[in-house]
Amino acid sequence: MGSMNARSILVVEDEASIAEVVSLYLKRAGFSAQVASDGKQAMGIFERQPPDFVILDLMLPEVDGLALTRWLRDRSDVPIIMLTARREEADRIAGLEMGADDYVVKPFSPQELVSRVRAVMRRGAREQAEEGSDRAISFNALSIDPRSRVVKAHDSEVELTAKEFDMLYLLMRHPKQVFTRDQLLERVWGGAQYIDPGTVTVHVRRLREKIELDASKPARLLTVWGVGYKFEP
Ligand code: CA
Repeated sequence: MGSMNARSILVVEDEASIAEVVSLYLKRAGFSAQVASDGKQAMGIFERQPPDFVILDLMLPEVDGLALTRWLRDRSDVPIIMLTARREEADRIAGLEMGADDYVVKPFSPQELVSRVRAVMRRGAREQAEEGSDRAISFNALSIDPRSRVVKAHDSEVELTAKEFDMLYLLMRHPKQVFTRDQLLERVWGGAQYIDPGTVTVHVRRLREKIELDASKPARLLTVWGVGYKFEP
C-alpha cells in the first residue's frame, strides 16, 4: 500500500479561484488533485478513474452537490467533504444524511480543509483496522457482521450507510452501555470538532427506521434522556 499522501482527490468546484487554491494546497500536502467544474464532469471523472477522496461544493451548475453526493453514495464509500455557504444549513444536513463525511463552511482556510481531509482519512483507516479483528454479533433477531457488513433484522437484510453501520456495530458491541453524542461523534466520525452534533440524532433516527419494528417506540436503540444512546439487547 502506498503512503496516505499519494491519494487522489477530486475537487468539484465551479469557482475557478477556489478550485485552484484548494488543489494547490492539496498538492503541496502531497496529494494528487483533479478539478471538475460541475457535477456532470465530476461523474465522468469518477466513472473513468474513481478518486480516493471527493471534495465537492454544494452549489454547482448542471448536477448540484446534493445530487452528486447521492450519486456517489449509490456507487461507493469514497469519503466526501462538502463545501457549503453559511446559509446552506438545511443542505448541509441533507448532505450529511446522504452520507457525506464532513463539511467545511465558506470562507475557509485551505490549510484547515487539508487538515479535515487528513482527519477523515485517518478515521477511515482506523475503521478498516478495527474491522479486521471484529466479530459478528447477534441479539434477538438482529445480527451484524462487520466482515460482510451485513445487518439482518428478523431474517431480512437491512441496508445501512457506512456510518449507520459503524454506529450500530459500536452500540451492539457494548450492549446497555450509554454513549454520549460526543462519544459517538468521536468513535464513529473520529472527532467531534468538525461534525454537527445533530448528525448523531439524524443517524439514530434513520437506524431506528431500519431496525426497529416501530421506530416511534424503539425497543433496541434507546434514548437515555439527557445523556445519550444505548443498545438494549
Ligand atoms: Ca459553487
